[in-house]
Amino acid sequence: MHELSIVMGIVDIAENEASKAGVSSFDVIELDIGNLAGIVMEALDFAWQPGTKGSVLENAKRKVNRIEAIAKCADCDHEFVSETLYESCPECGSYFTNLIQGNELKIKSLEYHT
Ligand SMILES: [Zn+2]
Repeated sequence: MHELSIVMGIVDIAENEASKAGVSSFDVIELDIGNLAGIVMEALDFAWQPGTKGSVLENAKRKVNRIEAIAKCADCDHEFVSETLYESCPECGSYFTNLIQGNELKIKSLEYHT
């Protein structure tokens, strides 16, 4: 399951941050997940518990910010909300568009009490 390896990746980063900060667990983790990041939220939920068990994230509260996908047309500079990765510009029909945001998967913040 793809989402379990994603959770493991997040745990890796968090373990690293924990040893840098000298803490043994985090209370809150905040994630930015783009609508086009290819993450199925239900699968992520399902993978979260087994993936974080015994780690610094085991008891962390998870906050997820869904990031709307926005693309910019390379021909006319029009910016638009994109539902798929390969959407043409609604203004001029060009297929030369670049995703500005919406494919990210990143840890926005990790919180802990000292
Ligand atoms: Zn355009």
